Amino acid sequence: MTVDLEERSLMLPETVEGALAARLDGATILAGGTWLMRAPLRRESITRALVSLQAIPGLGDIAIGTDRVRIGASVTHEALARSLAGIAGLEAVATAASGAANPAIRRVATVGGNLCTRDFAAADLLPAFLATEAIVELRTRAGAEQLPIAVFLDDRARYLTDTLLVSVILPRNLVASTHMRLPLRKAGDYPVAILSVARDRDRRLRFAVGSVEPVARRWHALEEALAPDRGDMPLDPERTAALAASCNDFKGRDGPEADGWYRRQVLPALARRAAVALARQEGIR
Ligand SMILES: Cc1cc2nc3c(=O)[nH]c(=O)nc-3n(C[C@H](O)[C@H](O)[C@H](O)COP(=O)(O)OP(=O)(O)OC[C@H]3O[C@@H](n4cnc5c(N)ncnc54)[C@H](O)[C@@H]3O)c2cc1C
Repeated sequence: MTVDLEERSLMLPETVEGALAARLDGATILAGGTWLMRAPLRRESITRALVSLQAIPGLGDIAIGTDRVRIGASVTHEALARSLAGIAGLEAVATAASGAANPAIRRVATVGGNLCTRDFAAADLLPAFLATEAIVELRTRAGAEQLPIAVFLDDRARYLTDTLLVSVILPRNLVASTHMRLPLRKAGDYPVAILSVARDRDRRLRFAVGSVEPVARRWHALEEALAPDRGDMPLDPERTAALAASCNDFKGRDGPEADGWYRRQVLPALARRAAVALARQEGIR
């Protein structure tokens, strides 16, 4: 179905193939619209043709299995937080979904929109998905493709030229995870820095940082520094903070909420808090 608006046309295909065809014809994908609606404020133009994902069955579903969770691209933050609440190992994703933005935004903003907003450094789900080692499922003209989220984020602009993100798959091999964010002034502000930490069944630790650099990434230097301690449960908060300070290889980005040096500087404190929270998740404290 296509709705003719005064200045724009809105297509509502009922299949992924239909949405992809519209995208390849130059239409902009419209998910929750919370980022796109602010395009004029950012002085960005958007195409006349929009293609909504709302009428595609299945994209709004979450399937929770014993070895993985599959999250459709149109799942909202609110639905994600509700569905994952209480699932051991996925606390970081549930907290990221329930703590981002504000209730009105969370009711409509989608998982796909959060992953595909290219110039938004403070996306909460990205570090949580990186720490979880999520897989993204894309649909391109060549067919279906699954990629580790880190690979997708490394070259996101290129992938998004001719791609629809269809779902995110979370492996269920984690025993605990946590998500820490530092908003500067009040709820609803973009966080200055975000840190997600997860521990898997082999006791391997994964750290991922958002909002400090333009795109979220894993903190491999800290993971390697802590690798000899990985049998240690709980993580020692003071040692974690000290190693976070000595392994801080982030180049902070300057932005309206904070300067780059400040974003880097808060990371050891976030790491200390994350170590305490992870121990709590693991039932140790
Ligand atoms: C006031 C405010 C505060 C906010 N605070 C936070 C915060 O604290 N933390 C946080 O994480 N986020 C925050 N956000 C951002 C919010 O989460 C994003 O706006 C949202 O994730 C985008 O989702 P959407 O579904 O609305 O996407 P849309 O606005 O519809 O789309 C965003 C972009 O993604 C593309 N896109 C969408 N879905 C797909 C898909 N399936 N495949 C390919 N491309 C796609 C669109 O074409 C567009 O370029 C805030 C937003 C606002 C307005």
